[in-house]
Amino acid sequence: MTTSPENIPTGFDTLGLAKPLLAALADVGYETPSPIQAACIPVLLAGHDLLGEAQTGTGKTAAFALPLLQKIDLKRAVPQALILTPTRELAIQVAEALQKYAHHMPGFHVLPIYGGQSMVVQLRALSRGAHVIVGTPGRVMDHLERKSLVLNNLAMLVLDEADEMLRMGFIDDVKWILEHTPATRQTALFSATMPDAIRRVAREHLRDPQEIKIRSATSTVVATSQSYCQTHTGQKLEALTRILEVEDDFDAALIFVRTKTATVELADKLEARGYSVAALNGDLTQGLREQVIERLKAGTVDIVVATDVAARGLDVARISHVINYDVPYDTEAYVHRIGRTGRAGRTGRAILFLAPREMYMLKLIERATKQKITALTMPTPGEVANRRVAQFTQQIVDIIKTEKLDFFFDVVRRIEGENDIAAREIAAALAWLATRERPLQMPGANDHAPREVAATPVAVAPAPTFERKPAKARPEESYPAAEPRRERPAKEGRSDTPVKQRTFAPGTLARYRIEIGRNQGVLPKEIVGAIANEAGIAGKDIGQINLFEDYSSVELPANLSDDLMDILRRIRVRQFALKTRVMEPGEFVDTRPPRRAAPARDGKKPDWKKPDGAKPAWKKREH
Ligand code: AMP
Repeated sequence: MTTSPENIPTGFDTLGLAKPLLAALADVGYETPSPIQAACIPVLLAGHDLLGEAQTGTGKTAAFALPLLQKIDLKRAVPQALILTPTRELAIQVAEALQKYAHHMPGFHVLPIYGGQSMVVQLRALSRGAHVIVGTPGRVMDHLERKSLVLNNLAMLVLDEADEMLRMGFIDDVKWILEHTPATRQTALFSATMPDAIRRVAREHLRDPQEIKIRSATSTVVATSQSYCQTHTGQKLEALTRILEVEDDFDAALIFVRTKTATVELADKLEARGYSVAALNGDLTQGLREQVIERLKAGTVDIVVATDVAARGLDVARISHVINYDVPYDTEAYVHRIGRTGRAGRTGRAILFLAPREMYMLKLIERATKQKITALTMPTPGEVANRRVAQFTQQIVDIIKTEKLDFFFDVVRRIEGENDIAAREIAAALAWLATRERPLQMPGANDHAPREVAATPVAVAPAPTFERKPAKARPEESYPAAEPRRERPAKEGRSDTPVKQRTFAPGTLARYRIEIGRNQGVLPKEIVGAIANEAGIAGKDIGQINLFEDYSSVELPANLSDDLMDILRRIRVRQFALKTRVMEPGEFVDTRPPRRAAPARDGKKPDWKKPDGAKPAWKKREH
């Protein structure tokens, strides 16, 4: 079954939110309200007080921020709403969320105030006026006492993470603030738990509040094997791609993210890394959605990145993995998601990514699925390399079994005889050639300690003449953005430049960054060709090219004119705009492992894992 428009749940537009807010939600790519939002927004819009039991990650910020914004009178630059948070981090985060949701409310001003920030700065900011104040209790109290913050016009007060404020000893400050704000205000109190002390505050300071608690799904036993991986947001993509590489029995994956925008962004990033991937979100028409599902079934797409809504009802037997890239709002959504794998009697695999602050979800999910969720650590570059070697070995074994190789035996024999090279060396060179676009070793696979990098700045000094000097090797001082030469003997130099090494006068060249790299399958000669043809820079004036995963560095004449830079920025290679720019001093760090020397002729085997015959998880995109 595929999702049809009828079973898509109601969107934000049914909750009574004003157009500017709906426009902002469309901008950030939220597709549907989370359960806490669907329950809280109408209650707050109707003016009721509210007692909400909700953790971080449930979408509670938008649950109070959206109705709060709807009530703001932009013409009056006085505090009309106050949000109290236990920490400065949360205050800043909430202020940023408000700013984002108020994107189509011109002139809107939110001010975070917290301890540790200069009083002078805060006093100045307060005197300029703000519509909403987000602050920690101590500092808010300070300003109320100094009368630098006046809350006579306060219409709404929100206590966020009230149990945290209690735990951190702020509850008396909170009560004091409640007593010093107009009794006519509307109050919302959110707390992950409801200890007695919080209930008492609610009883004394909230007027006939509506209680909202999102119930956890009743527990279900699932046949899926479940793991989680704790990562910081910045590492998630790397962790995902490494895990996909080393997972056994990978066939196809459904990856869940929270927003429509994130489906497209993540799909693009995975595609750039060579996966065959499609995004599935509520913006697609029914026809397009069905096309994606058909492509997944047929195996022309291996990964679908979807929102919960878009993946509802999706039933494709080949989905071996469900990846919770963004944590679901509640256990019910989690159980729904992982139900998309383990179909047709197979055992499925579910992997959950959790940021440290989302770890509380683990226990809840274990309880809801009546199953232990095992910890998974991000595979090391060495583990990924082992897996790639195993897959590569399998390919070789298969070719030997299935292909007719007589002609190639002769070729190898001839190379051996004519050049006095052992077959093992020839094989190593061929392996290098065959895996050139997707090296078996990840950067850092051999780097246990950070490598020393010369801090020579990138040359940008004027040096109008660049002359060509016939030289075999480049002396260190003649090169503007040099890496430590002692690591790079000329013969095995790791330059990806296809042309002969040349020497340029100091300052002649500068290093430029271009946004295409190994993952996009680019070859140095394509870069030289494009730059030479389209920018008119002769091949002889192009220096060293180093390919990295998603970008490359190219040495070009320093101080190029603005016109030429404009052309260089717009040149496309393999459909990627180069977006060329000068690299900052120190930006160039060659992290790639040194090329392996040819194996010694001592008959020792390299320390590689045995092939396990697993199907490659990284199947390249078909063109
Ligand atoms: P919170 O529980 O307020 O800390 O929100 C957790 C995360 O969920 C934030 O990154 C929000 O941007 C995101 N989020 C909140 N509501 C939605 C929604 N309706 N759809 C998608 N993402 C959301």
